[in-house]
Amino acid sequence: MEDLDVMLLGNPDDLRVKGRRVWIEEYKTLDRDSLGFWMMFRRPCAEYQTQTYIYILTPVLGELGYQLSRRGYIWLFDESGRVMKVLPTRFIEEYYLIQLERIVKMLRGEEEMIPPHRFKCRQCEFREVCRIWVSENSEK
Ligand code: SF4
Repeated sequence: MEDLDVMLLGNPDDLRVKGRRVWIEEYKTLDRDSLGFWMMFRRPCAEYQTQTYIYILTPVLGELGYQLSRRGYIWLFDESGRVMKVLPTRFIEEYYLIQLERIVKMLRGEEEMIPPHRFKCRQCEFREVCRIWVSENSEK
C-alpha cells in the first residue's frame, strides 16, 4: 500500500482451484457453544481477513495467469472437525480500502477508535498490546 505506507502480509489457509479460477478458503475451529458469539463478533474480523488475502493475491495470481474470485469462503468447524457452516464473503475493493485507511489512521492515532463493549476486551487475545485496553487499565 504505497499511499498509506504500510505493508500487508497474509497467509490464507487454502486455495480452491478449478481450471484458471481460484477461491480463497479460510478455516476456523470453534466450539459449538460459542457459535453465536463468533457469528456476531468475530465473523467481521474473519471476513476482513479473507478480503485482505483477496486484495493481496489478486495481482499475484493474475500475473501467473489465474483469476482470483472476488468471493472467498470461511469454513467453520467444530472441535471434532465437522463442518458447521460455510460463509461466503464478498470483496469490494473500494469498500475494503476505505476500511483499511481507517484502520491505519487509528493505529497511527490520527483517528479515534471506538472501544467495544468491555466483555469483548476481557476475552480478547490482543488486549496486552492494545492501546485502548492498556490505556483504560493503566489509569486505575
Ligand atoms: S482489547 Fe483492544 S483489540 Fe481487543 S477487543 Fe478490546 S479494543 Fe479490540
